[in-house]
Parts: sequence; C-alpha cells; structure tokens
Amino acid sequence: MKTRYLLLLLLWIVVGQQISAQSRKSSGKIIRTLLVDGQNNHDQWPKVSYMMKHYLEETGKFSVDVKRSYYTWKGDEFLADFPLKGTENTMALPKPKADSSFKPDFSKYDLVVCNFGWNAADWPKETQVAFEKFMSKGGGLVVVHAANNSFPDWPAYNQMIGLGGWGNRTEKDGPYVYYTDAGTLVRDPAPGNAGSHGAQQEFLITIRNPDHPITKGMPLKWMHTKDEMYDRLRGPAENMEVLATAFSPKSNRGTDRHEPMLLTLTYGKGRIFHTPMGHVDYSVECVGFITCLLRGAQWAATGKVDIPIPADFPTEKATSQRPFGKK
Ligand SMILES: [Zn+2]
Repeated sequence: MKTRYLLLLLLWIVVGQQISAQSRKSSGKIIRTLLVDGQNNHDQWPKVSYMMKHYLEETGKFSVDVKRSYYTWKGDEFLADFPLKGTENTMALPKPKADSSFKPDFSKYDLVVCNFGWNAADWPKETQVAFEKFMSKGGGLVVVHAANNSFPDWPAYNQMIGLGGWGNRTEKDGPYVYYTDAGTLVRDPAPGNAGSHGAQQEFLITIRNPDHPITKGMPLKWMHTKDEMYDRLRGPAENMEVLATAFSPKSNRGTDRHEPMLLTLTYGKGRIFHTPMGHVDYSVECVGFITCLLRGAQWAATGKVDIPIPADFPTEKATSQRPFGKK
C-alpha cells in the first residue's frame, strides 16, 4: 500500500511539473533585452534609458540589461561608474574614440534597444560584425530618437535604421521618405542634408497602417506630448514600412511634409522598430510613446504583439502623460 501511495505521489509531482512548464511556455517567455548606450548629444540620455528599462520591465514581459560604451573625451580614462545625470554630451565635442572594450554578447539576447546619439564613437569592428550576425539571424532592434543620428559610416546600421539624420548624411545615403497631403508615400532623391527639426511642440500622429500588430486598435490620430519632430531624414529605406507620420510645418522650420514617426524594417531575419520621437523625459512620458515603445519592442523580438492599448492612451484632441516616478 505504501509503495502505491509513493508511486501516485511521484506521478502527481511529475505530471504537475509538466503542466506548469507548459503553462509557462504558453504565457510567453521573457524577452531578454539588452539596452546599449553611453554616448549621446542629449544630456538626459541616462534618464531616458532608465525610463525605457522601467517601462519594458513593468510589463513583466522583458528583462533588461544595460551595456554602456564608457570611452570619454577627457583623455583615455574609462568612466566605470557612469553617473545617472550630468553626463557626457557629444554636442560640440570632438568625436570620441571607439571603446575597444565594448563587446556585448548579443547572442544572449532576443532584443537590443539602441539609445546612442549623435557623434557616438563607432563600435569596434568585431562588435559591429557580431551585431550584424545577431540581426540577420533573427534578432530584434529598437531605435529611439537620436540613435538614428549614430554611426553614419556603418552601412549595415544604416540598413537597419532605414532613415537617419545628421552625421554628413546626404543624397549619397538614400532618399528622403515622407507622405504628401494627398496621402502618397514619396521616396525623394533630391540632394540635401539629412536631419533637422524645429522648436519642440506637441504634435498629431497619423497612423498610416492601422493593421500592423504595433498600431492595431490605436486611434488613427493621437496627440504626442512636447517633443522634437525630426524631419528630412534619409537613408537606404529598404525593407521598410512607415506606420505613422506627423505633419512638419514650414512655419516651424519644417518641411510641409508628413514625416515618418513610426517605422518597421527587416534586416535578414531580424526585425526593427524605429521611432524618431523621444527627445527628453516629458516626450518619453507620453502614453502614446510608451505604448509604441512596448508594442514595437515586443514585435521586434517576437513578430507578435499582445500588449494592450491602455485606457489612458492619448486622443486626437488631448495628449496623455504619465509623470515618471509619480503615482
Ligand atoms: Zn533631440
């Protein structure tokens, strides 16, 4: 009798473990994410990195490690304890040297979030090659704001971001891409520099593909909180879809064109979500931005989205902001 009970108990434990393993599997595994940063022309980049890590982990669907490129402009020392504010700003500084120790093991991750900025030092060649391999084999990438200024001389990176700005990008790098008032997508090879923006303001986002997993269920128009609206971006723009745009008025040093604000791309088997939004903390506190970041990240990593559009999502008339760190 005792043996039979023991066998039943053993069976119950084994079956129970298998069922719980299956339910863990069906509820989706954690998306292993690596946020890379360290050189950016925006003073607030460490805060924005911290906010994005928080937003991603808050969903319970992502775990986020951070890998920083530590080379500074103050000689050859590395900053081991990078402060969270008062950081290196690449604006008006000579281009820093590459951080030869910057060698993340991309193979341990499903997703990379890039928060580098303008004038960031190139990654070591070996790191570039490892990242290209990670992406072409099916990795995910999220590109935010000034990350599309980075690495203008790295052809594969330009392929991944599709459109970029500054860094001597011109017609040699690819067309301008925008929508006209009539709703036509234009690839414009006209000569000219890439990247500019007017004064920061709130602006209206217009969804161009409401059937993509990232935008599905979103209001077709919604107000973004105060941000820099990038315009005149240009690049290879291959394997790229414009999911949403914003009108850039000439009255604010813009283009009178509808500029891309949400982009998806593929690179080999890899998927990329790119948004030029996200200049500073109040831009990133926009519930529209947060939702696009989360859904874009999930899509880039898995090809699917089940993160919902929250009830406090902005509307056509009103922005919606969640002050960071305040409940
Ligand atoms: Zn900016």
